[in-house]
Amino acid sequence: MKYNALLERMGEVNDLLCSQSMLDWDARTMMPPGGAHTRAKQLATLKVFARNHLVADETRRLLDAAEAETVNLPGDSVERTICTQVREAIDYHLRIPAALVHKRTEIGSKGQHVWAKARQEGDYASFAPVLEETLELNREMAECIGYEAHPYDALMYRFEPGETVATLQPLFAALRGGLLPLVQAIGEKKAPRVDFLQRPFPVEKQLEFALKMARKLGYDTDRGRLDLTVHPFEISFTRNDVRITTRVNDEWMPKSLFGTLHETGHAVYEQYCDPAYTRTPLATDLIGLYAVGGVSFGAHESQSRLFENHVGRSREFWEHNYGELRDTFPEQLAGIDAETFWRAVNRVEPGFIRVESDELTYDFHIMLRVDLEASLIDGSLSVADLPEAWNAKVKEYLGLDVPNDRLGVLQDVHWSSGQVGTFCNYTIGNVMAGQLFAEAKKDERVRAGLATAEYAPLREWMTEHVHRHGRRYTREQLLERATGQGLEPSFYMEHLSAKYSEIYGL
Ligand code: ZN
Repeated sequence: MKYNALLERMGEVNDLLCSQSMLDWDARTMMPPGGAHTRAKQLATLKVFARNHLVADETRRLLDAAEAETVNLPGDSVERTICTQVREAIDYHLRIPAALVHKRTEIGSKGQHVWAKARQEGDYASFAPVLEETLELNREMAECIGYEAHPYDALMYRFEPGETVATLQPLFAALRGGLLPLVQAIGEKKAPRVDFLQRPFPVEKQLEFALKMARKLGYDTDRGRLDLTVHPFEISFTRNDVRITTRVNDEWMPKSLFGTLHETGHAVYEQYCDPAYTRTPLATDLIGLYAVGGVSFGAHESQSRLFENHVGRSREFWEHNYGELRDTFPEQLAGIDAETFWRAVNRVEPGFIRVESDELTYDFHIMLRVDLEASLIDGSLSVADLPEAWNAKVKEYLGLDVPNDRLGVLQDVHWSSGQVGTFCNYTIGNVMAGQLFAEAKKDERVRAGLATAEYAPLREWMTEHVHRHGRRYTREQLLERATGQGLEPSFYMEHLSAKYSEIYGL
């Protein structure tokens, strides 16, 4: 069977990408700083090898034969789906000249350095030429990838296939319409107290508690581990080894706790992918070249947001788990009850920094970035005018005056890595989490579990409807199968409205 030979070859691509990820994990957790330069080369080499193995003549011969062998199977069979995905990925990579890929890697390493210095000094002008170069490169990429309406659509394709400027406009309009009045109304109310979160919390105990909660939510530590890092992430080397990382602030407890719950959601997605898909294209992103089983960045983010916000920041969760937290930190939390704690970890406070923003204002940070990126790519906004446009959006959405570019346009690492088009998945993930959680709660077992701090039924529901499918279905197909419709923001808005009305007495 040539189909089996094709699968084995795709397994080798997956092996290369898993090895690349392993070096990446090491670079972000254990590697001494001196290793950075040569490690960057090793990472780039492995990715190029994976790409070349994928598009090689031998792969294409096997693919032709496998397609012929499987032509009589149903169109949605695993075999035909895999052939289609491999064909699509080869076509994609052959459209992008190697020189362009190389240029992006180069600008990525140069950009990080320039950006880090510019951010430190609040000096946008010194970063502007790199950004200009990055945008030009991404415009070239968009032309190679191809698009119908907007060049930005081509750039989002790698992260959120199917999403376009045109599909995002009504989604963002719906979110803005619902969120703006909520944030304004909350601004006039008294904020919950949070002083008790800002106390010395021993690091070891924070990590111990966070990992305990991660296990409770379904994270299998026989196939995973938790380490410290600067910018937390989840990474997998097949479903059998899925690692998470976190950062700990010894004076601000929510950071490691909710950060860990977030990465746990990502990890559980990977750990419960169908074992039969291991090393196949259904557990490999052949377009972006990552060893990942989630179907899109947004779908992945839906699982992390689900655990972090819908479960981890719910009243029910703390009614049951707060006792254990207080036993872990008896002095710090003396006199604080579960209700007070729950309110504190849901405090809304519009701020300048995306990664520090609360559940309710987070999407504003994303919407402004997506809008500005699309305008930069189509040329309707110039690099010189970007800071002013950024600050105007922050004023419009969050009512804040940005004091300097460090707290504004220079805060994200994304552009310095040469990437444009990566932001929308965060909001897609939020919306999708709301939709999936509402559907899951129609299940009696899931509801009973949440009410008794027994999270296996929820995890099993998500595995049945999301995790196990890996990349077999598109995000929209997955949603339609799970909830009966494509992406729909009303569930997410209802969740936010109900929760924050209760907390703030709206
Ligand atoms: Zn995430």
